[in-house]
Amino acid sequence: MKHTITLIPGDGIGPEITKAMQEVVEASGVEIAWEVQPAGAACIDEYGTPLPPATLDSIRKNQIAIKGPITTPVGTGFRSINVALRKALDLYVNLRPAVSIPGTGARYDGVDLVIVRENTEDLYAGIEFEEGSAGAKGLIDYVAAEGAGQIRPDSGITIKPISVTGTRRIVTWAFESAKANARLKVTAVHKANIQKFSDGLFLHTAQDVAAGYQAEMEFEDRIVDACCMGLVMDPTNFDVLVLPNLYGDIVSDLCAGMVGGLGIAPGANIGEHEAIFEPVHGSAPKHAGKNEANPTAEILSAVMMLRHIGEEEAAKRLDSALKAVIAKGESVTYDIKRTLTGSTDGAVSTSDFAAAIVKELG
Ligand code: NAD
Repeated sequence: MKHTITLIPGDGIGPEITKAMQEVVEASGVEIAWEVQPAGAACIDEYGTPLPPATLDSIRKNQIAIKGPITTPVGTGFRSINVALRKALDLYVNLRPAVSIPGTGARYDGVDLVIVRENTEDLYAGIEFEEGSAGAKGLIDYVAAEGAGQIRPDSGITIKPISVTGTRRIVTWAFESAKANARLKVTAVHKANIQKFSDGLFLHTAQDVAAGYQAEMEFEDRIVDACCMGLVMDPTNFDVLVLPNLYGDIVSDLCAGMVGGLGIAPGANIGEHEAIFEPVHGSAPKHAGKNEANPTAEILSAVMMLRHIGEEEAAKRLDSALKAVIAKGESVTYDIKRTLTGSTDGAVSTSDFAAAIVKELG
């Protein structure tokens, strides 16, 4: 069966790593018609927006998309396209597995974790009041009038909403996915001891959902700071972690570091209807245009995508070929080479790495 899939190459290293991904996916034996769509700063001149409506329409029509990273200007300029996509399509699950790959020289072996990050709420909801604005002043006055506390008048404010609805659906998804994948334990991560009305709600709702799975799945909760320490001490104590948005973002990068760095950490954003697959990492501007970035995270995101669309056989073949190339250690990109040897000498380019995988696929 031929699949039509929206492809957003993105910017920075995005076009190079997505090209590598396309080549190896095509070599894995699946038939895909790629609908290439733009997004990001480069679109603004032509379309007047960094997220053209045609790009969103294509994802809605095909229901499956894979993307490269997109640069977000820091502090000023347009808000993150990635956040906008997740909100527009209500992609409430951000799934980020962290699995050891032999041959990467990673600090830890035998890591096999699944991070389930809530993707629509929390400090990422995009509700912000700029320092000095009428909105910030009004909010500061309201907080004082309510007797809820004093906020300095020269403050910028970001709102952290966490709802029962949003928490219930992400925790339920985490349990269902844990069950479907024969996982043994779900850990809810929070800071409920300090943020009682947001993280406290997350914890209590997670406990409530967990009660419905008591017979089939172990459940525990961890305070986020202790959880980070626990992960670094012994990641094998964890299995599936479910977290509010910001902690999920940070903890998934921590786990990516444990298994060899951002270059190899894949991800997916999943909603009721659409799913967008993308690496955890960003556009790595300093490596852009040099044909040197590691496309592994993008390729592993494609492996997740192939599984999602029912192409299990191709997913398995591609996953094995990728891991075989890394295990041999001859054709690896600069980041893995540096971890293995302390130097980037002998590293191969993005395109040569893809070519080695294509060769391995036969
Ligand atoms: P980054 O992930 O782009 O880069 C951090 C470092 O990780 C890089 O310097 C590089 O050494 C390494 N790295 C990342 N990907 C790599 C790869 N494939 N191969 C080898 N090394 C790799 O993070 P950043 O510098 O904080 O962000 C750059 C831009 O990307 C920002 O504008 C940020 O907003 C954006 N971003 C986009 C996404 C997304 O599109 N989903 C995600 C995160 C960040």
